[in-house]
Amino acid sequence: MNLFDLNDRVAVVTGGNGGIGLGMARGLGQAGAAVVVAARNHEKSATAVEGLEALGIRAISLHVDVTDSNSCRTMVSDVMRCFGRLDVLVNNAGTNIRRQPQEYTIEEWQTVIDTNLTGAMLCCQLAYPLMVEIGGGKIINIGSMMSIFGAPFAAAYAASKGGMVQFTRALATAWAKDNIQVNAVLPGWIDTELTRRARAEVKGLHDRVVARTPAGRWGKPEDHAGIAIFLATAASDFVTGAAITVDGGYSVQGVG
Ligand code: NDP
Repeated sequence: MNLFDLNDRVAVVTGGNGGIGLGMARGLGQAGAAVVVAARNHEKSATAVEGLEALGIRAISLHVDVTDSNSCRTMVSDVMRCFGRLDVLVNNAGTNIRRQPQEYTIEEWQTVIDTNLTGAMLCCQLAYPLMVEIGGGKIINIGSMMSIFGAPFAAAYAASKGGMVQFTRALATAWAKDNIQVNAVLPGWIDTELTRRARAEVKGLHDRVVARTPAGRWGKPEDHAGIAIFLATAASDFVTGAAITVDGGYSVQGVG
């Protein structure tokens, strides 16, 4: 038995058209899964699917805006129409609006919470009966270093990502009886579109991250392929409710 085999499995990655989501999608596809890239930007999704197909991966893109429950419902029913099953759900879609806490408008706050946390809840609710129907499933929720730490510019983001870890634990306890394992991945500082903006907006961020990270570099999207495969396969069948850092040691650095 190959513990890391995903042949005949179907994996949905929200926000899978770039960054960490695409890094995970590549890993899941290379382990044998058919991959659904679910995001808003059609052009980016089409390019991502082309790239996956070039690696020999069966992939499609579907539109979803995770802040819209109807859009999530349509996306999941399209997955069922195309593949007839849903084995792995990666709740990766995410955004950030950087402000001092006292400066958030309620709309900005809501955008971050809705995208990062409520969107994951909606997708999990829709995936649950489908996973039960096939005897189990795997849910991977993307947290952050802001699931653990705070930052002056990240009140909304940290609230959403801290919430993601507690949400993961709650689901793990509820759905273990259904053979659904629910885990969170907490990436360190990873070079993506999201953090390119952060590097532009937060002075000195690039160098401070390199200095604090024992691995001595920013992470790359492909650094997340392995953890995605582990948490999506039989290799992790007794792992649930965990929050696993993929951060080059950033969160255990005791000096600096
Ligand atoms: P990207 O900006 O590259 O990816 C974010 C993805 O989310 C995009 O593909 C985007 O696609 C999608 N997305 C955003 N809003 C929505 C929405 N409403 N509905 C559907 N999809 C949406 O950034 P990252 O790869 O860095 O981020 C991926 C995840 O990793 C996020 O949850 C982020 O918080 C988390 N993370 C990132 C870290 C980093 O250092 N980069 C560190 C820790 C966590 P589209 O615009 O086409 O919808």
